[in-house]
This record gives sequence, C-alpha cells and structure tokens, in this order.
Amino acid sequence: MRPLISAWVVRYTYSFFGYDKHMAEQHELRDKGLRLTPQRELVLAAVRELGHSTPEEVAANVRLTHPGINLSTVYRNLETLENVGLVQHSHLGHGGVRYHASNEDLHAHLNCEHCGAIIEVPIGATASFTQALLDDYGFHTDLAHLAIAGRCESCFTKP
Ligand SMILES: [Zn+2]
Ligand SMILES: [Zn+2]
Ligand SMILES: [Zn+2]
Repeated sequence: MRPLISAWVVRYTYSFFGYDKHMAEQHELRDKGLRLTPQRELVLAAVRELGHSTPEEVAANVRLTHPGINLSTVYRNLETLENVGLVQHSHLGHGGVRYHASNEDLHAHLNCEHCGAIIEVPIGATASFTQALLDDYGFHTDLAHLAIAGRCESCFTKP
C-alpha cells in the first residue's frame, strides 16, 4: 500500500509546514520540466471543482471564464496533468473517462447498473478482497481505476 502512505505523507507535510499548495504544484511541475501555464491551471481548478468530470464537462467549466478554450486543448492539458500525477482518471460505468484531482482520498466506486448511481467507498473497505487477490494471485489491484458494477441497495430491494 505504498501509494496510500506517500499520499498521506505528502498531504501531512503540506499541512504541517503550512505550505501554499499552489506553490507546491508549481514546484512539482517545474521539477518535471513543466510550467503550470494559465490553461493548465484552469483545467486543474475545474477538475478540483467538479470532481469525477468528463473532459467535456471540464471544457464547459473552463469556458465560463475563458470562452476561447477548445476541447482538444483541454484533452492535452488533462493528459499532461495526469502524466505529472496531479489528476487521475477512472472509468465509472458506461461513458467516457472521468478525471479527479490526485489529492482526493483514494476511493473505489460502486456503480449501480440500474439507476446509474456512483457510490464512493474508502479504499480500505476493499482491503480483504484486494489482500486475497494479492495473497492468492500475487496481483496488485487498482480499484480506484474502475468502478465495481452491481445494484445499489434501493434498486435491489425495489420490487
Ligand atoms: Zn472517485
Ligand atoms: Zn483507464
Ligand atoms: Zn440503483
């Protein structure tokens, strides 16, 4: 569970030193030879605000303040931000990928195939399942990446 620990350490370190997050991001990108350009910053802010958003939704949000930005620019910026680890994507049921900021707590998604609800669960809730896959198959799961399909409680109990 190294990713969990490092995410925690990073967050703890930021808050402990009262780090300005924005500055930290600028540094992080600069270390990787990138600048947090105004466009990248807008795209990142949109993902943070929306959570679980499609590139189209991110573009619509950015256009509220910058009408000129086009979808391919948003795609490109999302890719760049993902390459440097500031955003991640997951596949939540049907439809395209959705992006969320990497500083969110790691969670798995339950997708109700009946009503389409997406339920977030802390990754720890899947520990016994992922541990069994690791013990029995040596497989390291990435449950944050894909939604777990099924039925939510109310759809299951509905006649
Ligand atoms: Zn999520
Ligand atoms: Zn994927
Ligand atoms: Zn449902």
